[in-house]
Amino acid sequence: MNLFVANWKMNMTRAQARAYAEELGSRIGDGSDGAELVLAPPFTAIEAARDPRGRWSLGAQNLSEHAAGAFTGEVSGAMIAEAGCRYVIVGHSERRTLFGEDGPLLSRKLARAREAGLVPIYCVGETPRERAAGSTAAVLARQVEALGDDPTDRPIVVAYEPVWAIGTGLAATPADSASAAADLRELLSPRRDLRVLYGGSVNPGNARQLLASGGVDGFLVGGASLEAATFAAIAGAAIA
Ligand code: PEP
Repeated sequence: MNLFVANWKMNMTRAQARAYAEELGSRIGDGSDGAELVLAPPFTAIEAARDPRGRWSLGAQNLSEHAAGAFTGEVSGAMIAEAGCRYVIVGHSERRTLFGEDGPLLSRKLARAREAGLVPIYCVGETPRERAAGSTAAVLARQVEALGDDPTDRPIVVAYEPVWAIGTGLAATPADSASAAADLRELLSPRRDLRVLYGGSVNPGNARQLLASGGVDGFLVGGASLEAATFAAIAGAAIA
């Protein structure tokens, strides 16, 4: 089933999340017709974003590399799972670039996610400089090394998110997306339950073509997911 994930980043109070959830619920009515929707709020708004009718599931945007203990300010996988999340985003490019998260750290986070029973949404993607150097495929191959110890018999979501496309309004072409998605499927070929998403300036206008020809199973959506109507329109357009 196609998967559409709303990454709210550091946006949305609990009150805003409740209003969003109400709006999304009224937009999708009895369900989202063959699409799986996930909201990834900030930790504080996870509960407020929950749908009592279960029409969407929840994800966190990050987790600690530790299971528990004296790590002030951190949130563990077990806490995230208990808060009602099925998914957790690992290795978003903002975490890699702004918070210095690297492969070894991300491997530890992936292990903590699995211990908590969470499905990782593992993000990969090249910078503008790497793209200009023609090294996209090599970058993806290096970034998926962090999945080396991750069990291959468990569901996994990998999001191809070229850094130059995130928040820029400059989405990848379906051909770019299809090429990266094919590389990722080959790199991760032993996996039985793999979904590849595209992320980077997805909007209701480009969603349909990216899903039809971009070789992906859905989207990770940042800016355009902050309005429930727009997020619902992206999923609706893509699967129409
Ligand atoms: C993201 O941050 O995961 C993302 C895809 O952002 P945007 O849709 O705003 O480009």
